[in-house]
Amino acid sequence: MTEVSGWILDCHQDGDEMVTWVKLDDCKTISLREKWRVALHVSADINRLEQLALWLDRAEMHYEFGELQTRFERHLVELGATRARSVLAVSTNRPSKLKRLAEVIDARGNWHHHELYSVDQKMAQRHLLEKEVHPFGRIKISNNKLTALDSRTDMSLELPPLTIAHLFTDCYDDHGHRTASASLKRIIITPRGTLGEDENPGNPITIECENEEEMLRLLNLRMMEIDPDVLITDAGDSIDLPALRRLSERVGQPLHLSRNSEDLVPRTRGRTAWSYGNLLRKESYHALQGRLHIDMAGSFIVREGGIAGLLELARMSGLSGQDISRLSPGSAISAMQMRQAMEDGVLVPWKKNRPEDVKDGLELLAADRGGLYLEPVVGAHDTVVELDFASLFPSIIATRNISPETMNCSCCDPKTEPSDSADGRLPLLVADAAAEIEHRLRAGNEIPMTMKVPELNLHTCTLRHGFLGRVVSPIIERRMQLKSKRQKKGDVWDGRPKCTEMGTSYLLWIYRIS
Ligand SMILES: [Zn+2]
Repeated sequence: MTEVSGWILDCHQDGDEMVTWVKLDDCKTISLREKWRVALHVSADINRLEQLALWLDRAEMHYEFGELQTRFERHLVELGATRARSVLAVSTNRPSKLKRLAEVIDARGNWHHHELYSVDQKMAQRHLLEKEVHPFGRIKISNNKLTALDSRTDMSLELPPLTIAHLFTDCYDDHGHRTASASLKRIIITPRGTLGEDENPGNPITIECENEEEMLRLLNLRMMEIDPDVLITDAGDSIDLPALRRLSERVGQPLHLSRNSEDLVPRTRGRTAWSYGNLLRKESYHALQGRLHIDMAGSFIVREGGIAGLLELARMSGLSGQDISRLSPGSAISAMQMRQAMEDGVLVPWKKNRPEDVKDGLELLAADRGGLYLEPVVGAHDTVVELDFASLFPSIIATRNISPETMNCSCCDPKTEPSDSADGRLPLLVADAAAEIEHRLRAGNEIPMTMKVPELNLHTCTLRHGFLGRVVSPIIERRMQLKSKRQKKGDVWDGRPKCTEMGTSYLLWIYRIS
């Protein structure tokens, strides 16, 4: 294969293989499918690890969990650790078995002898990171090898030329509710042009016929002709795609919404969960292969930030665009933290939350005050002033270097009075902060620096750049950069009304998360 270049469109696990979809510059889309060996890590005392390695080498374990390989490696196992620890890396050629393998190893250590790492991260995130590429990044391919042509942290604003279409199924029941089980009257596909270029909706294509088999045939044909990279639905996970699956089952013919011949199988099943006192239902996740299915009803991220905002988050977190569109902002931030930890070479613990340090009653009273909300005076008001601090909390995290491993560090002396010391605050931007830390370390401890938490007997580190600061600073920087870009007349964020609208909501989204 000669060398070609394009954009990474998506990456997902398919059984025990990883599939990476690439949109080439000539607008063709190709998939690279490969077998992949993935590892988890176990920390315990050395005797236990040696026993575990022997146990994992048994034939029945290989039969159950794939071809297992074990070896000792040295890794950092917690944030801020300076010395690597010996851990047992257990790899399998069957990524689909990794979670189950972790459960078995955990049980083998009676759920407390073995500390497990590298289990939670999404496979696509790990796979792309290992290849040193990122979703929606520019890449070149030669001999089936991907090479990044841009960096995840690049501040350039080039958007991949993704083609977009909207899908709507007209299936209302007798009560006027749109549901997947109601009879399907027609299907409407509306092309929406190309991301960042021409996003005016084209003419809707309506597929309406008595014969269901013909309806499905026409749908498959139109999808092949329009061939969008992104398929947008409103409640597609709960209504449109299940309705089309039912149609396909009824007529006994395949549905071709994906770019390959894979049948439409939900990536996750529907479930219900409690959240802050509310019972919420999360619908089955109907991912497509080779194109992104974005369900607006199930995607707060896309509703707020548009497709461009989604791409931004996918690049920053390293997650597949389809996956991240269904996450809450909190889970998206967690994914960014995992990516940062992996890039730092720190193993990500499984199922472990670091508890806060124990506080006595008075300390809790001083430290855990919460906020004060004032009840609004209901009514219409004029002369209203809004005070909004852009990125207030993330800025405090970044400049005060707040992070689990920088709290009460041992390298800075908390007894130094602020009057005898220099202000240890860091610059906001990540490169400036790294340079400042470098400078401080070179200069030695000539002028002691402090960073105390007001009114509490706590301090943060002035000599090591904290993990959380390194996660939030690039987001703040990105927001600042987008804001400045948008002010340029005629740029992609300002040029066309539709883009400006998307750009504005995109910025709004970046505001919200930062
Ligand atoms: Zn320190």
